[in-house]
Amino acid sequence: MIDLRSDTLTRPGRAMREAMADAEVGDDVYSEDPTVNALERRVAELLGHEAGLFCPTGSMANLLGVWLLARPGSEVLCDAQAHIVRAEMAAHASLHGVTTRTFASVRGRLNPDTVTAMLSIGTGPFLTETSVVEIENTHNFGGGTVQPLAALRELRSRCDAQGVAIHLDGARLANAHVATGVAFAEYGALAETVSFCLSKGLGAPVGSVLVSTADNIARARIQRKRLGGGWRQAGMLAAAGLYALDHHVERLADDHAAARAFAEAVRECVPSAVELADVETNIVVVDTGTKTAAQVVAGAREAGVALSAVGAHQVRAVTHLDVTHDDCVRAGSIIGSVLS
Ligand SMILES: *Cc1c(COP(=O)(O)O)cnc(C)c1O
Repeated sequence: MIDLRSDTLTRPGRAMREAMADAEVGDDVYSEDPTVNALERRVAELLGHEAGLFCPTGSMANLLGVWLLARPGSEVLCDAQAHIVRAEMAAHASLHGVTTRTFASVRGRLNPDTVTAMLSIGTGPFLTETSVVEIENTHNFGGGTVQPLAALRELRSRCDAQGVAIHLDGARLANAHVATGVAFAEYGALAETVSFCLSKGLGAPVGSVLVSTADNIARARIQRKRLGGGWRQAGMLAAAGLYALDHHVERLADDHAAARAFAEAVRECVPSAVELADVETNIVVVDTGTKTAAQVVAGAREAGVALSAVGAHQVRAVTHLDVTHDDCVRAGSIIGSVLS
């Protein structure tokens, strides 16, 4: 089976497991795990922030990042396809008392005009106030879309002018960095809080790091404990994250090339199924035409390729560390024949 359902499927390889086995550890609730502390410092420095907090999941890092910035009873503006609003089980509303108001986009691409037209500031007792704008880079359900730096900067200056904070969901920020060459710190400077995932394309088994100011991270550390996320000898997991940062960032370019090769192979059979220009990173959204996504997922599985349905007529393929370039080309040809 060539499994392209997600880049979370990767399993740690031999060298990563050795790094985990050799990690120095301590009790992280006492802030005494040296490997966790090293990972938190490293990601914070990479993104140009003061401090970091290692979290078990990207969802928890987003939950804490938004919590730091959004007053209870205020609203967060985000894309209608944002992970925080579609895939986090309404945690921000049910646990932290914030509502989301969403905007439409093309493939998840940020348009600062759309966002700033929706800001609700000084609306007193009449309308819910906006406290936070949340953005995703790259955009998952949009299809691995990279946010243009100019749009992010424009949003930053308009939010600054209105006193609105920005949370960046950087689950795949490393893919954006590798695709564009924009420095991590440049992206990091554009948001008050950033979540950064180690278990997607970077291939660690578990973990995301939230970065912000030292004061914010001290508060988030308490809230993480409140949510049941105060862990102990987590250094074994942090070691996998450090290994991933050392060895798996630049190779994301291979995943991007494999995604493009997959899309080209699909297009050889069915040119209308995917636009090459839409393949920006490691995610390919394929239009299933007259077939339903469920039919294509089932047909592909029978032929040895696992994909996920992301719409009634859309399936998603995600390339990653555990599939080869040739696997991806072969998978593209198989999907092409299933479609046609
Ligand atoms: C995967 C993902 C997350 C976090 O997911 P977890 O499964 O909670 O680690 C957050 N945002 C985006 C855009 C993602 O793709």
